Amino acid sequence: MQTEQIIQQLDELNKLSSKLDIPETERTEMLHEVSNYANTFINDLSTVKGFSSKEPKQLAIENNPKTFQNLLQLYQTEVAETGINAASGTHLGYIPGGGVFTAALADFIAAVTNPFASVYYASPGAATIENEAINWLKKVFSFPETAVGNLTSGGSVSTLIAFTAARDKHQIKNDLIKKSVVYLSEQVHHSTQKALRIIGLEDVVIRYVPLDEYHRMKTNALEQLIKKDVEQNLNPFMIVATAGTTDTGAIDPLNDIAQIAHQHNIWFHVDAAYGGFFILTSKKEMFNGIEKADTMIIDPHKSLFLPYGLGAVLIKDKTAALHSNQYTANYMQDAVMDELVQNPSNLSPELTKHFRGLRMWLPLQIHGIEPFIACLEEKLLLVKYFRIKLMELGFCVGPEPDLSISYFWYPFKKNSNEKNKQLMQAIHNDGSVFLSSSIINQQFVIRIAILAFRTKKQTIDKALAMIEKCLKEIE
Ligand SMILES: *Cc1c(COP(=O)(O)O)cnc(C)c1O
Repeated sequence: MQTEQIIQQLDELNKLSSKLDIPETERTEMLHEVSNYANTFINDLSTVKGFSSKEPKQLAIENNPKTFQNLLQLYQTEVAETGINAASGTHLGYIPGGGVFTAALADFIAAVTNPFASVYYASPGAATIENEAINWLKKVFSFPETAVGNLTSGGSVSTLIAFTAARDKHQIKNDLIKKSVVYLSEQVHHSTQKALRIIGLEDVVIRYVPLDEYHRMKTNALEQLIKKDVEQNLNPFMIVATAGTTDTGAIDPLNDIAQIAHQHNIWFHVDAAYGGFFILTSKKEMFNGIEKADTMIIDPHKSLFLPYGLGAVLIKDKTAALHSNQYTANYMQDAVMDELVQNPSNLSPELTKHFRGLRMWLPLQIHGIEPFIACLEEKLLLVKYFRIKLMELGFCVGPEPDLSISYFWYPFKKNSNEKNKQLMQAIHNDGSVFLSSSIINQQFVIRIAILAFRTKKQTIDKALAMIEKCLKEIE
């Protein structure tokens, strides 16, 4: 091809391809529209429903360009207004999310600048922000400076990384897999069993440790199980304790469990995905022993109120963490000179990834930690308030919770489970506040999980009014 022809074709192509780089006037206009959209969305949160069962439509990608304004409208009706409104304070089901505004700004800036945060050499600044987020977490949980960590998409991926380190440290492979024992609480999060399966440990022996009346792991039962397993020539390999279970918010006795793990040379993992940041509150003492964990996971997209897609894992043993994730390839040779653990990619299955450190770094730098702590204390008090009010209405409530999750049921004279299920359905149909259910000690219960940063006393009063109304409907 002649050079002239090439130049001509490039000119032609540029007419279309340059449309991806929009001019400043249009950028400003679009930012203005986003700003208006975000403000309206946030302003309306106090009045919109917490849940809608509407099915979304018209979201297929068709190759006919639409205006931004129309798409924002479509987003509002088909995304923002369907399902659980996770940004609103009225989300009191499952484990509520957050979405502080300053984290959204961080995501915007991260996407505009698009630094390659996984390799120090490629973006020393972005990699340092990722690492400083981990350093901050190490301080919060009193992990030693020599510990390493990684920012992940959430608790499930954090668990994968932690368990892989445990597996490789203890060389759980081949014949040893079937002889190795993992000890879990009966209330363990299902991402734990899932992670074991994904990393090839499906065939380990799983022991469910019984719980006390507060839904915490019974340590004497744990010890007995371990002793029996040792007698049977099995290989006690890992204990998974939870600091804030999903169903009831219970914190296992971490210090005692740490001691047992240490005594028997068992890997000690703590799942603090939901409850972790309550260590910053008046509940601090309940977390004693978490610093003795070999690995722990924590979700800033839960108790730090950040938007979904931000978890973290901390690992004490650097070499165990590097074992499976660190790899060198020819096309990476410019990067290998750097300290291995400076590169987030050496501690994670991900190479290229979202620069998620910024959405944690920016809010912490702008607000300081105090508003986050106040928000957590507020959640602890709100669950107390909710329980008192429910009891006044004649409901039964679960035991005094360790954190901000509790549950209740109505003592109907007949068919209690069936009637409470109907009550749950009536609450979902109403939708003004979203609650979810569970089965605890064979009792169908309705859960209250208070964690959204926008959940306030008014929200709880609204929930109580809704519950009272729904109860009347089915009684
Ligand atoms: C939410 C949760 C998980 C799973 O975390 P994801 O971020 O949803 O992947 C694990 N453990 C506990 C206790 C949780 O609450």
